[in-house]
Amino acid sequence: MTIAIYPGSFDPITNGHLDIVKRASSIFEKLILSVYDIPQKSLLFSAAERVDLARRAVVDFKNVEVVSYSGITVEYARQAGAKVLVRGLRASSDFEREFEMALMNKKLAPDIELVCFMANLRYQFLSSSMLKEIITLGGNLDDMMPQHVSAALKRKLLP
Ligand code: ADP
Repeated sequence: MTIAIYPGSFDPITNGHLDIVKRASSIFEKLILSVYDIPQKSLLFSAAERVDLARRAVVDFKNVEVVSYSGITVEYARQAGAKVLVRGLRASSDFEREFEMALMNKKLAPDIELVCFMANLRYQFLSSSMLKEIITLGGNLDDMMPQHVSAALKRKLLP
């Protein structure tokens, strides 16, 4: 059985992330959406909140689990019994950073393979930070995230 992890901040989960979950979970027997607990960026939601929002978003995928983790991603992958790291690539913004991380991960864990999915055309421009900015300004992006995520963002960001 090939287990893959899909690591990220997921602050919060978007339809772009869910598109990757859908595609990856149709290829791998088990996919663990892995919420990195304290990434080096400022966060809106706590790790527990990000896990909860992601869990509710993936309930229909029977082979997808959501957990939070800390420390080095490839070490966590090994502990979880995963051989594959899944990431999503948007056209212009992600490649260089992903390439650097992939080379470093390969040095740390040559036994773990990276599989990148090209972002869906619909979600190329979508990021969690963009969602937060637009919601703060009163914009509506309800077709870019699950309804419970939109409600949680509005509760946090709107007066
Ligand atoms: P990180 O902080 O690790 O970049 P993110 O939560 O921003 O975490 O993203 C997790 C993964 O999902 C990354 O591989 C990122 O490139 C990918 N991703 C983010 N947004 C999208 C999107 N709209 N479409 C496809 N993949 C995406």
